[in-house]
Amino acid sequence: MVFRSFLFLIVWITVLNGANLEKVSIQFDWKYQFEYAGYIAAKEKGFYKEAGLDVELREYGEGTDVVQDVLNSKATYGIYNSSVVVENGRIQPIVLMATYLQHSPLVFVTQKGIKNPADLIGKTIMATNNELNHSSLSLLMTHFDVTTSKSRFVDQTFNIAPFVRHEVDAMSAYRSNQLFELDRLKIPYDIIDPMEYGFVVNAGNLFTSRQEAVEHSLRGQKFIYATNRGWQYAIDHPDEIITILKRKYKVKKSNEALAYEAKVIKKLMMTDLYKIGETNSEFTQRLYKQVLHAGMIREDQKLGQFLFQDVVASAKNRFQLTQNEKNHLQEKKKITMCVDPEWYPLEAVQNGQHIGIASDIMKSFESKIGIPIELVKTGTWTESLIKAQNRQCDILSLASKTPDREHYLDFTATYLTLPYVLVTTMEKPFVENIDQLHGEKIGVVKGYEIENRLKKLYPELNIVEVESIRDGLKKVENGQLYGYIDNLVVATSYIQKEYAGSLKVSSRLNEKDELRVAVRNDDVVLYEVFEKLVAQIDEATMQKSYNRWVSTIEQVRWFDRALVVKILLALFLLAAAFIWRYTILKRYNTRLLELSTTDKLTGIYNRQKTDEKLGHEQQKVNRYRGYHCTIMMIDVDHFKNINDTFGHQEGDRILQKLAEVMKKSLRQSDMIGRWGGEEFMVILSHTSLDEAATVAEHLRHTVNEFPFTELYPVTISIGVGEFMYGEEVHECVARVDAALYRAKESGRNSVVLT
Ligand code: GH3
Ligand code: MG
Ligand code: MG
Repeated sequence: MVFRSFLFLIVWITVLNGANLEKVSIQFDWKYQFEYAGYIAAKEKGFYKEAGLDVELREYGEGTDVVQDVLNSKATYGIYNSSVVVENGRIQPIVLMATYLQHSPLVFVTQKGIKNPADLIGKTIMATNNELNHSSLSLLMTHFDVTTSKSRFVDQTFNIAPFVRHEVDAMSAYRSNQLFELDRLKIPYDIIDPMEYGFVVNAGNLFTSRQEAVEHSLRGQKFIYATNRGWQYAIDHPDEIITILKRKYKVKKSNEALAYEAKVIKKLMMTDLYKIGETNSEFTQRLYKQVLHAGMIREDQKLGQFLFQDVVASAKNRFQLTQNEKNHLQEKKKITMCVDPEWYPLEAVQNGQHIGIASDIMKSFESKIGIPIELVKTGTWTESLIKAQNRQCDILSLASKTPDREHYLDFTATYLTLPYVLVTTMEKPFVENIDQLHGEKIGVVKGYEIENRLKKLYPELNIVEVESIRDGLKKVENGQLYGYIDNLVVATSYIQKEYAGSLKVSSRLNEKDELRVAVRNDDVVLYEVFEKLVAQIDEATMQKSYNRWVSTIEQVRWFDRALVVKILLALFLLAAAFIWRYTILKRYNTRLLELSTTDKLTGIYNRQKTDEKLGHEQQKVNRYRGYHCTIMMIDVDHFKNINDTFGHQEGDRILQKLAEVMKKSLRQSDMIGRWGGEEFMVILSHTSLDEAATVAEHLRHTVNEFPFTELYPVTISIGVGEFMYGEEVHECVARVDAALYRAKESGRNSVVLT
């Protein structure tokens, strides 16, 4: 149902975007073959295009590291053969978008007669390193005590020759590949499948990074939808896809081998039990326990939030911690933080206190998580990095991501982006491109991320490390350095404060400083908490903090403090009397106003108020170009049945609860009103259709998941539409109503955009 509604979304997006397709890439974990048929079909049949996506398919090549490529944003999406990715005893923070093979094709093929896992002890086994350490096969071996000391392991050759020649007793194999060859040659074999021993692992998992999921949730949804369509097409038309694989993707396998693979893949998708692409969190949770039990990960590794829809929902939603996260924070009691002690106004340490923009942000975080974030004092940024490395601080408040730091830190999404500038003395010329400064000594604070970037980008520059910005600027002033590079805000602030008239900004670099919170990388749950916190920083908080620390308002001088205090006191008493009366009247009026604008049953706005608001919004859209307002019409599905079966009172109760749940799930700035009967209207100011699509989907999902009653499902259908320029209220409402009708037509519990 949801997917059908996305069809409309996609049609709409295509019309609007025309040829403007969003570029994304997917990295496969093996060579082109039928295992990727869904993606190939989605691309070749134009499903991605219809979804507004230009998808680059990437075949596996020697040395490809799918997980790292995705986590480092080299590829948008990736495929992995398990939904828990373990590396060096750590769980990798991937986000699971879809699962296409509900059962993994990975098995042991054994010489006839070797039937049980325990029989593998003392035998020669051919498998890849990864399979031996991180797969369902390794879980099975650990369980049955098949260890390196007891059996002989040899490298996987990816062909069946060693098996045919009896050089190995068992080999790892994909049901969809190697078995075909063995059958064709009529070689007898047995199979040991981890699934039969309770190690049920899925495969063909589509995943992405947390950052991609949070920042580009809509395109992620579009990608999943189009890929699901692709898979449906591929299993319905295997021959066509095989022809495409052979002709266009130059796949070497024979037609017969591909047909065999197609058959096995279809079976492993288990479409009779699972929807195409369906993810099941229990799978992942059980796998996590097994992996933990087998000692493949360290004890401290917890399973964070890993489902795409959940990650997206909680990022979009107001800040909310899971029980697991709350417990974790409670156990920790406090979070230790290292900062840059000299980076004003971004942050600094003054009289032992953390100050600056980052300090405001950290304080707002503190109030949300309910445990203190404690400053660990350091003298320099380098010292902070060392402390972070030694786990003496859990987080760095403001840091850029570097490969080096990623060895010990995980980075949240960016929350502050600032351009870099070059500071020189006044008489130096302005430079267009710092390329022109070859040979000149340019200072950068030791350990700053930009240092390595500059060295790589401008190898002819003479980069000199300095201890701090003060050190750097001093050296520029006394001529030891030609210039100093730092970000715009910090540089201008120091110039204003200490070097007005002697130093200036003489170039703006193309490079930007992307600042994030860095979290120790052995604490996934803490990382997840900070990801959520960062996703929640709103423009207003940022702006306020920025104004507070960056502006240069002069201090007011008090000439006669005592006199001022006396005058203020007198004024205050006088004002208080008025205010008291005024407050009482105001409260009374407010109550009256409330009564006239709220719906009696549900307590949300009534129809009259909703109409009023619609009128205002329509005027704004027509007055201000670029202003967006989107409305959602919501109708409860099969509500008559509820009334008929359980009575009107129960119906009323559901309506009340529903209004409450919906209101909670919306932002403060969104307005929800009762349109009539069991219909609601939501008005999203400053919101485009694109953004509203996610809100609507989230709302639908929230209602669908909310336990109103165990007796019957409570779901809603939603029509969504943006006010068009020049459109009357009733015209827009009619359009949205029609969309709602289509949502009902498509099977209810769905969202349709117009
Ligand atoms: P669907 O929308 O999915 O097509 O089916 P439906 O059964 O919900 O159909 P429709 O929206 O046309 O029906 C609305 C019903 O809601 C009719 C009326 O009995 C009930 N209803 C409207 N207002 C109230 C109310 O205030 N309280 C209660 N209990 N029921 C109401
Ligand atoms: Mg209705
Ligand atoms: Mg209804």
